[in-house]
Amino acid sequence: MESHSEVVARLRSVFRTGVTIPLQFRLTQLSALLSLMEDNEAQIADALHKDLGKPKFEAVLSEIDMVRNDICYAINNLKTWMTPEYVGTNLATKFDDCFIRREPFGVVLIIGAWNYPLQLILLPLVGAIAAGNCAVLKPSEISQATEQLLADLIPKYLSKECYVVMCGGAEETKKLLQNKFDHIFYTGSQSVARGILRAAADHLTPVTLELGGKSPCLIYGGVDIKTAAKRLVWAKYFNCGQSCVAPDYLLCDAETRDALLPAIREALEGFYGPDPQRCQDVGRIVTDQHWSHVMELLGRSKGRVVIGGESTREDKYIAPTVVVDIDETDALLQEEIFGPVLPIMALETVEEAIDFVNARESPLALYVFSDVPQLVTKVLENTRSGGFCSNDGIVHMTLPTLPFGGVGASGMGCYHGRWSFDTFSHKRGCMFRGWALERIGALRYPPYSETNLSW
Ligand code: NAD
Repeated sequence: MESHSEVVARLRSVFRTGVTIPLQFRLTQLSALLSLMEDNEAQIADALHKDLGKPKFEAVLSEIDMVRNDICYAINNLKTWMTPEYVGTNLATKFDDCFIRREPFGVVLIIGAWNYPLQLILLPLVGAIAAGNCAVLKPSEISQATEQLLADLIPKYLSKECYVVMCGGAEETKKLLQNKFDHIFYTGSQSVARGILRAAADHLTPVTLELGGKSPCLIYGGVDIKTAAKRLVWAKYFNCGQSCVAPDYLLCDAETRDALLPAIREALEGFYGPDPQRCQDVGRIVTDQHWSHVMELLGRSKGRVVIGGESTREDKYIAPTVVVDIDETDALLQEEIFGPVLPIMALETVEEAIDFVNARESPLALYVFSDVPQLVTKVLENTRSGGFCSNDGIVHMTLPTLPFGGVGASGMGCYHGRWSFDTFSHKRGCMFRGWALERIGALRYPPYSETNLSW
């Protein structure tokens, strides 16, 4: 079996042959990835169900179709993306050809997390292939069934010379990171991201970090409560609350909260029936340890559970839960919840809510529900977050035309669609100059005098 360094060296020498550069090679690989998705939809949905109890609809919507759409979008646009981009010139460069050439970095490393284990490896891979790189893929070991499926399928469909899946956990990944990569694309927690940055620093490797955090949802200025509750419940409890862009906590005034609670109960019952544990559309917490972590957070909260709260360890089940009567010191407001628990904190005005958000790390997503467009704009203009969506949750990340990524502690860099292609490309600023107009060019040569300044 090849060692990590042998794999990386092999990919590097393959990259140097230039095989990944032609448009046709990239299109062939992207088409092969599309075939992988189409031929194996049932196995993929099965693996996601094994790992997370993921309902088929959620698997198709948030993993399979997202990857498929992104591949098709890249196939349809790649020729344009690869075309050199000519830029404006000035008087001194008027007769030069000045353009940006997007070139692959070389051998890139893509490290994924377990909550969308397929999407978080394959969406970056689409960008890496489109940009002409070789890639090492390191899926999360926690979502074991999907990890194994990726390791089986990728070599069957894609070039084994250019793309390699490496399995393993933290120790394996640390060893892998001792090698020099030309770009690292990491999705996961903030704490591990620090180690990734440190490892990258040793090789001066550029890094994209797709991290998490606490994405707030603000409800102010009046809304259609029933619709707002349905959208909120869907976004929060999708994938059992284990989405990096799930609304983590809710801020609204006490009157809105009181109107919202029966509407949330009604939405939950409408979606999942009287016993969510028996409902096929409710996923599970990924592992025992993650289950304990969410339950421990809930246990440390001083708030009042008004909806849900039931749980079964053996089944890794936690009921969709809502907690009220908390203040800013509550355990549920200190770290990302990453489970089906929604704390609601009452703050009377949107200005207080904006201050609350701004006193914390910049979130990956920020949601505002309101009938008042000026209030939505006010929140947008007075806060900072990776992405923003009004009157719904999560859906903004399904568009390949919008960049997806964090800011500050929620990450650096972005991807999806053209943004993935750009993330995995070096933007080489090029100037083609001829030998003409030397008399004008000579104005810059020493010995300097006032006449040099007219150059
Ligand atoms: P995880 O435990 O699966 O870890 C992510 C990857 O890092 C895995 O491949 C794992 O093997 C590797 N890893 C773990 N420990 C390591 C170490 N010490 N050194 C090197 N590599 C190591 O996932 P996680 O970190 O629990 O992911 C959950 C977090 O990811 C949440 O905070 C969530 O918000 C965030 N997330 C962000 C996005 C996004 O797009 N921004 C998407 C999904 C998840």
